[in-house]
Amino acid sequence: MNLSVFSTSYAQARQQFLVACARRGLAVTSRVHPLPGSDNETLALDVARVGSPTARNLMVISSGCHGVEGFCGSAVQIDLLNDDAWAASIDHPDLAVLYLHALNPYGFSWLRRVTHENVDLNRNFLDFSQPPAANPGYDAIAERLLPEQWPPSRLNELRLMLYVARKGRKALQAAVSSGQQSHPDGLFFAGTAPTWSNKQIREILREHAQQCQRIGWIDVHTGLGPQGVGERIYKGPASAEDIARAKAWWGPQVTNSFDGSSTSANLSGTLDLAVMEECPQAQYNGVTLEYGTQPGPKVLQALRAEQWLQRHPRTGSPQRQQIKQQIREAFYVETDEWKRRVLEQSREVCWQTVDGLLTR
Ligand SMILES: [Zn+2]
Repeated sequence: MNLSVFSTSYAQARQQFLVACARRGLAVTSRVHPLPGSDNETLALDVARVGSPTARNLMVISSGCHGVEGFCGSAVQIDLLNDDAWAASIDHPDLAVLYLHALNPYGFSWLRRVTHENVDLNRNFLDFSQPPAANPGYDAIAERLLPEQWPPSRLNELRLMLYVARKGRKALQAAVSSGQQSHPDGLFFAGTAPTWSNKQIREILREHAQQCQRIGWIDVHTGLGPQGVGERIYKGPASAEDIARAKAWWGPQVTNSFDGSSTSANLSGTLDLAVMEECPQAQYNGVTLEYGTQPGPKVLQALRAEQWLQRHPRTGSPQRQQIKQQIREAFYVETDEWKRRVLEQSREVCWQTVDGLLTR
């Protein structure tokens, strides 16, 4: 297993992806982002496709929906592209594979989970003609989450702990992470309009996914659950039949957030909604492949710190660097052990997806 598919920056990840595509003779369409990266590099959502334009079965593998989580998903994609056995297994007249590298390239480069609009892309696929949904849980703790001072005072930490003591850690997770539309400079902001990435993804779906009859989608994430474990969180229509199909493809360990079996809270505005809206002709079966990194409270602390930094752009260098390091470590574990486990599990899930599309 070659662990050099993991990169140390967005720029390196993009370069490795482009080289891996070129080695396979794949053309890449780059959707260039309007802003530069943190090293002044070009940012893009890069798209590569293998297989016939009229294939009835389409597998999609995407990375970097949550920016900084892209170190993991990018490596998963490059690992597949470099694998001759994988290339042979997807060489089938009725199968196409679409690689979407860095859905949110801005967040990947700048080490943010959100887009340049400060939006959580995986909460942004909403019907914006409807009035914004309320999240009273978030409103109640918004000020406690992002105090004026960082690191937070003892009193601030006590007030958050009090919330957890009264309502429970699950309630805190739901309030914080389910998405909110009331605080544009807060955490897990769902946005009030489609983001740049949202529009690109919809255009890509119109270009690549209107012909197929079945779509199997793997969207790679990090930051939830036990370290090194890739939770297979089902995404798609929630009928019993659909969930049974997901388990037939990816095993009985498939979880979902509708019935509480997942470590994820129940979310709105997620990516799968865009797929189902744009491709009503296709049967859709998706997983969020979610790799654990650090304990939940540590991840939340890193997100709070980074959002505080965003609100205080004049923060000096030692603290700025420390906070950026903290968020990077919250979503990317740079040990060989973790990287190896990531690739072992992603390979299995990808092979199962092809098998599911072609035989089940
Ligand atoms: Zn994520």
